[in-house]
Amino acid sequence: MTYDESNIFAKILRKEIPCNVIAENLNALAFNDIAPAAPMHFLIIPKKSYQNYHDFISTASRQEIIDLNDLMNSLISKHNLHENGYRIITNTGNDGNQEVKHLHFHLLG
Ligand code: 5GP
Repeated sequence: MTYDESNIFAKILRKEIPCNVIAENLNALAFNDIAPAAPMHFLIIPKKSYQNYHDFISTASRQEIIDLNDLMNSLISKHNLHENGYRIITNTGNDGNQEVKHLHFHLLG
């Protein structure tokens, strides 16, 4: 399946719709989920167009993969999530109930 440029996170990246930015680096962006399922519910996404985890890991540069993981880990540290625990979730495809077809990691604390 090809990447759909009209998905909501692509619009956020193009600044066509707003989001509450938590942190960012050259290759990744983190913002609050609009419908939080935990006291802290961040979404971490790559800035380039990847549909899902497999697409990202198969085709992204090493630096993009490092930057996304660094951003996610910096939020874990900043919010002390390593002390009490957290969940990282990435839903993929129809069988994985992926609603937004741009790779995103849910970080729930
Ligand atoms: P998925 O089911 O694809 O893993 O999760 C998509 C997530 O995106 C959901 O948790 C949903 O609340 C969140 N979401 C959907 N639309 C928006 C939006 O416009 N802004 C933000 N910040 N989050 C959104």
